[in-house]
Amino acid sequence: MRKKIVAGNWKMNTSVTKGIELAAAVADKSKETANVLLIVAPPFTHLTKVGEQLKGSAVALSAQNCATETSGAYTGEVAASMIADTGATYCILGHSERREYYGETSETLNKKLAQCFASKLSPIFCVGEKLDERESNRHFEIVKAQLQSTVFNLSDEEFDQTIIAYEPVWAIGTGKTAMPEQAQEMHAFIRKTLAEKFGTKADNISILYGGSCNPSNAKALFSNPDVDGGLIGGASLKVDDFLAIAKSF
Ligand code: PEP
Repeated sequence: MRKKIVAGNWKMNTSVTKGIELAAAVADKSKETANVLLIVAPPFTHLTKVGEQLKGSAVALSAQNCATETSGAYTGEVAASMIADTGATYCILGHSERREYYGETSETLNKKLAQCFASKLSPIFCVGEKLDERESNRHFEIVKAQLQSTVFNLSDEEFDQTIIAYEPVWAIGTGKTAMPEQAQEMHAFIRKTLAEKFGTKADNISILYGGSCNPSNAKALFSNPDVDGGLIGGASLKVDDFLAIAKSF
């Protein structure tokens, strides 16, 4: 179901105590943005406590990653079922930092997608091109290939549960945001590409923009017909900024 969504990717930030405080503040102020689904994605270590804090609120909980395997001798990994046990219902997958620093490939991500669905976690699946790929005019081709090698393998039912995040790598944490026209152009392209495989179901999927989104640029980005919200990094760590972004629709 296509929804307006603002999701906060806290990355490797906040102590558990600060994370609980931030979640409490988001939950408290979430009543002001009832038309928008708010999601917070703290580090693994915070999920249980943050989940307890969010109980009774409309704010949903997400992990930032999950293991490719179900259980067993995988030191340092966290299974999707363990994430679901904390009360989380979403999991970010395919973030460019995971692709770049931890070598995640489409093969890895297909396993992670399967793990998420087996544990009833909805993926927030990230795609996006690097700067040189945009400068050489290959951005559509790159994003299409990322989708074809992963999301295209989903069943219709799995696809219905999925959120897509378009995050141009050159805009993540750099202060450089895609122009609203660039975001709309790519979001429309993503929807059209998904329609080639999933037909009219692509109309119902939420496609979020991510990359230096902040209270000053969110309105222009979110006013585009194919931009259904944002995946927010830096600005999600400040409750007022995060909520101001959610009020930008
Ligand atoms: C992100 O990492 O998902 C992101 C969008 O980061 P930032 O908002 O800080 O660019």
